[in-house]
Amino acid sequence: MSIKKIALEEHFMAPDFVDYWAMTFGNISPELSDKALGALSDFGARRLEDMDKNGIEFAVLGLAGPGVQAETNTALAVRRAREVNDLLAAEVAKKPNRYGGLAHVAMQDAKAAADELERCITQLGFSGVMINGATNGMYLDDPSAEIFWERAAALKAPVYIHPNNPTDYPAMYKDHPELWGPMWSWGVETATHAMRVVTAGIFERYPDAMIILGHMGEAIPFQLWRIDSRWAIANRQGRTLKEPPSHYIRKNIMVTTSGVCSEEPLHCAIDALGADNVMFSADYPFERTIEASQFIETAKIDEVLRQKICWDNAKRILNLKI
Ligand code: MN
Repeated sequence: MSIKKIALEEHFMAPDFVDYWAMTFGNISPELSDKALGALSDFGARRLEDMDKNGIEFAVLGLAGPGVQAETNTALAVRRAREVNDLLAAEVAKKPNRYGGLAHVAMQDAKAAADELERCITQLGFSGVMINGATNGMYLDDPSAEIFWERAAALKAPVYIHPNNPTDYPAMYKDHPELWGPMWSWGVETATHAMRVVTAGIFERYPDAMIILGHMGEAIPFQLWRIDSRWAIANRQGRTLKEPPSHYIRKNIMVTTSGVCSEEPLHCAIDALGADNVMFSADYPFERTIEASQFIETAKIDEVLRQKICWDNAKRILNLKI
């Protein structure tokens, strides 16, 4: 008997977005991308069977990246984001007791992104937004994003920062293509993205803003003490925060277990961020749901905590009416 779970880094694909997604194919072996497309495009029996076998009662779906984060034409990015949100809303409406949605937005136009997020939350019933890394090299601490954070905070809509390749290719990965992508560089990229938001003071200006990170927090929970210690002596060039960075990380950043099925980082995330800030996720179809499920069902944690991670925390943070 598997434990009833909510999962929230569960991906889908829409026809107009395959070309963007194909930009990441270099990260993994070609056979795997072919296999994934079928699973991503299905909202029916195949996905539900995988959920049912593993006790996933409710899956919050998000577009597989990078989506319009890689679109250079702003008007097209805005239009396509809207279209894919409508497509997802139509699928969710067919099975509202099994699926929820995370919005896709075009940060090229932050006002449009804020408006689209509001439409997705208030009209389409979505639970937050997933942003696939930098938008054409622009990170979420960019001054242009301020209007977006203001709206996300007002809506209490969490912003799931999902990894993607950065626009540049740093010398540190030269001759090591295996380190480029999910194995290593994605974690560095995404943790840095979140840290930019923290030290830019977004959470100070918008205390209700929230970031969700996958992969057990992209190693940030492990680093809290050192982040605070070296922030104190860092060359900040005038940057200030009222509290040490860990205060905002603990208060405004939540993490999921997606793609990490081992005890040490789970316990680290719980200890560092608190029992209310860790949520189960599988990362369908890029990870094996059965492995993720069996991991959380057998992890050495008490049953109250297991219930929080599998269900209660996501229900509260995503404001799910289930
Ligand atoms: Mn993912």
